[in-house]
Amino acid sequence: MIYSCQTKCCHYIFLGSEQQRACPDCGKTQLRPANAAERAEFFRRYTAALPPRRRSG
Ligand SMILES: [Zn+2]
Repeated sequence: MIYSCQTKCCHYIFLGSEQQRACPDCGKTQLRPANAAERAEFFRRYTAALPPRRRSG
């Protein structure tokens, strides 16, 4: 489950679980499930952090 932090000035988007319901950035528990746009943002950042793949051919 991807969560979005609701704390003012944080808005951190992260992959959490039912057990982990605290923001890893600010430590607050004011979270809500991320919406579609926030999930897209999360995956864009997540994939950008991975090393680029070489294309064969
Ligand atoms: Zn936060």
